[in-house]
Amino acid sequence: MKALVKFGEADGDVEVREVPEPQLAPGTVLIAARAVGVCGSDIHMWRNKQSWETRLPVVLGHETAGVIAAVADDVEGWAVGDRVVCETAASICGTCALCRTGRYNLCPKRQGYGAIRDGAFGQLLQAEPRVLHRIPDNVTFEQAAMTEPFAVAYNALVERAPVNPGDVVVIQGIGAIGALSLQMAKLRGAGTTIVLGTPVDKERLAKAKLLGADITVDITTEDPADVIRSVGDGLGADLVVDATGVSAALKQGLELVRPLGSIVKIGWGPQPLGFSLDPLVAKAVTLYGSFSHTWTTWERVLELFSTGRLDTATVLGGVYDLEDWEQAFEHMESGRNIKSVMVMPG
Ligand SMILES: [Zn+2]
Ligand SMILES: [Zn+2]
Repeated sequence: MKALVKFGEADGDVEVREVPEPQLAPGTVLIAARAVGVCGSDIHMWRNKQSWETRLPVVLGHETAGVIAAVADDVEGWAVGDRVVCETAASICGTCALCRTGRYNLCPKRQGYGAIRDGAFGQLLQAEPRVLHRIPDNVTFEQAAMTEPFAVAYNALVERAPVNPGDVVVIQGIGAIGALSLQMAKLRGAGTTIVLGTPVDKERLAKAKLLGADITVDITTEDPADVIRSVGDGLGADLVVDATGVSAALKQGLELVRPLGSIVKIGWGPQPLGFSLDPLVAKAVTLYGSFSHTWTTWERVLELFSTGRLDTATVLGGVYDLEDWEQAFEHMESGRNIKSVMVMPG
């Protein structure tokens, strides 16, 4: 089958290749991928700037929506033709303290699709039933392909960091995770929402306005600290969401957060920090890391899609064929799209 493969460690070492089809092993199903989202992490891997473990060669893609194409004899409850989305933890140990308590996203032996295990930018994907969720009838494959990044935002702003009605929330970065975090903050009743970007984000900042951002700031022309001082009591943000891929964003976050406020860091950034964390102490700030999601997160996001509580139309910038993957990736990298989705052949 044709699949999009990362094969080397140089910038751009990604191409469409013929690869063997995954096998239907006991305890698994095969999913025919229909629509698969392009993640910021796929762009990082294309540029070889990822800061997580990978296997080479590996089929990229982990934001999967598709149809079950085959079911092993020992699997119950799933049938050929079921419309499904697929979580990203392709395998977990199942026995560690984190797995046993439902926090398998943090299992030390977790192997993710599109990094260690072959992902969904191909025709077929092997999956354990543990990671499957049914797509509601009124949700399209293209929408469903965005369940994963919405689940990332849901985990960060609902399950990890607090947002209370009326809070001032600052979102650093307006890639997909920034845009989806903005929606989650508003669902939780945030008061003023402020989204920060740079000139490359011009179009995406305009989309942030459509998604309900109260204030957008190009940080190269306006100091966000001045903006924050003009909001509410002027003491700063109750919550700062770091949805950038740059370590230095934390320095800015510490400046913008109010005393006793919180920062939730979602974006990865391999660069070492070159600044003092003293403001964290002086302001008694809580810093949360947030990674991935679990079963309930996915069910809740699908419920929010089905009930029309999340805006996927403004987020989805374009739908591309697998052969046009480079365009799909470039349109995200350049800031033209918040999210690109690819449709798989067959
Ligand atoms: Zn993703
Ligand atoms: Zn485990």
